[in-house]
Amino acid sequence: MQCPYCGSSDLKVLDTTDTRSGIRRRRECANCEQRFTTYERPLTATPVLIKSDGNREEFDRDKLKRGIWNACAKRPIPAAEIEKLANHVETYLQSLGRSEVSSHVVGDMVIQGLKELDSIAYIRYAIVYLGLDNLLSVRAEIDKLLAEQQAGTILGADSSSSTSTPKPENDPASRSGREVNPSSSTSADKLPASVETPKHRRGAAKMVTTSPSAGLSQGRIAPRVAPKA
Ligand SMILES: [Zn+2]
Repeated sequence: MQCPYCGSSDLKVLDTTDTRSGIRRRRECANCEQRFTTYERPLTATPVLIKSDGNREEFDRDKLKRGIWNACAKRPIPAAEIEKLANHVETYLQSLGRSEVSSHVVGDMVIQGLKELDSIAYIRYAIVYLGLDNLLSVRAEIDKLLAEQQAGTILGADSSSSTSTPKPENDPASRSGREVNPSSSTSADKLPASVETPKHRRGAAKMVTTSPSAGLSQGRIAPRVAPKA
């Protein structure tokens, strides 16, 4: 092992941590005094990935991380989280004990991981991975994500309001109820209905046929109207 900064092999180990996925060592170069971390991981068999065109490709951990990094560029996501996600994917692939596996297994795990990490990174990855090639399909994906996030808030608000949220100043129930009220049948439920359609392309097409200036939220339509003037 050589110092990545000066190439000296005069290294000291400052700290060793035994983790589930391997051994992490904090090292210091005795020559230039730079510090860095090394990992020792067991080299276990990782299945070959079957691409959607049928071609086979060896699992490449660095390539996977580059993909995640690209989606996370300039987002406040700790490097450790990206490392963790890559580890998670690799460990899972190895745990399958198979020689080949669809590359979608990797893509699905990454997109799910990003969804929990950062909405913007998720959308960036989704554009590439789901092949969203026009603004409507991107918007449909964003709407779907917002609806999921909102549904999460509503569930939380509903379950807690009956038991342990007596605070009237927060008033989460009425706030979320105004935004998306599942039981109301006003024009507002047009949007969630199309968002919940499983195939987002179908949802997007539906939104086109709806008269855009009348039915949908005004803020998102405004830029399309503006250039006409
Ligand atoms: Zn050095």
